Amino acid sequence: MAISVTCNKCRRELDVPGGILFGPPSKQNYDGALEYSLKLHLCKTCCDEIITAILVNKDLS
Ligand SMILES: [Zn+2]
Repeated sequence: MAISVTCNKCRRELDVPGGILFGPPSKQNYDGALEYSLKLHLCKTCCDEIITAILVNKDLS
């Protein structure tokens, strides 16, 4: 059984491996340490757009 993964930006199903974006740790565990991070899947197209925007310092809207 194949696993279906959908891009969190464009909502299309990934047909080739894409990227993963992690947010900052935001939830504390029982020791008070931050351990939960939002994880977003990105298709190759969206991932390439974001990487390009970061590398050339463009607006990400
Ligand atoms: Zn996408």
